[in-house]
Amino acid sequence: MAGAKLARKQPGVWIDPAQYDPRATDHLDLIFGGDAWLARQRIAGVPVVLTDTPRIEKHDRLALRKALARWETIKEPTLVVLPLESWWLTEGRAWLTYEVLAAGRPVALVLLHPYNGLDASGAVAGLLEFVSSLGSLPVVLLRCDVSAIGAVAQGAFAGFIGWSAATRHGPLPRRQPVRDSDVDMSPAVFVPALHDYFKASRLPAFARSGRRDVLRCDEPACNGGGLLRIARDSEVNLAAARAHARRHNVASAEQVARYVLMAREPRDAWWEACKAGVDVTASLAGNGLMVPVARWLRQWLEMGSPAHVPETAA
Ligand SMILES: [Zn+2]
Repeated sequence: MAGAKLARKQPGVWIDPAQYDPRATDHLDLIFGGDAWLARQRIAGVPVVLTDTPRIEKHDRLALRKALARWETIKEPTLVVLPLESWWLTEGRAWLTYEVLAAGRPVALVLLHPYNGLDASGAVAGLLEFVSSLGSLPVVLLRCDVSAIGAVAQGAFAGFIGWSAATRHGPLPRRQPVRDSDVDMSPAVFVPALHDYFKASRLPAFARSGRRDVLRCDEPACNGGGLLRIARDSEVNLAAARAHARRHNVASAEQVARYVLMAREPRDAWWEACKAGVDVTASLAGNGLMVPVARWLRQWLEMGSPAHVPETAA
């Protein structure tokens, strides 16, 4: 609802009604009837309408078909939002591809996951396979992480990268309530040298082991202060730490996007960025730091690129 108000003031903004969010509290349909979110977006004058699909469960082909038929007769440019788990990119991919091709409509994927929708085995390969099967039909990634850049390099139409952990995947219902005291509240920070996100509370360990170099950040958003400052702030001023982490995450995603998408062969540039991160991660073992390579990152390395054969991270 706040998004619709913001979009009215800010031209060019898209609004995701996010009706797949289990915490969604905007029950506009009860007040305005079935097309409340369409009306909201029209009033806001958005350039592209995003459909208000609820979560699509695994195996529920009928729900997928229903989602793809939503607002199919309206004239405005529309993206069908598909909030689904990575199962649809692996076992369910044939159905997904068939139904999207049959509907012939551009889609926006929201991968529902507790942390990273591309961590599931085969998810990266499945995503790229899906994008290429659709040919000229656009695929957009909403609420993604830095992998959105890799997907665009490989043919996705566009990607949106969340600035905090909660906006880098679609939310799933929580199985059990967690106590705040059990949760690491520090923000997740993109560490450019490792090409991955880490909780700020983990960063001081790198410095203590003699690898302060890993925490460097050259962007103006960080004033050359490095990422340790976010870790320090997390202990005394969580709001400031989160704000800094968001600024840093946005700036570093932009830097990666520029490097990759302006390269002569973006697929090679993306693979090289992943490989560099994996290599630095492996080198930490020499300082006594055992840091596993993230599953999503490992999968990108295994995909290879035109100039690079697939590699398996150690
Ligand atoms: Zn930074």
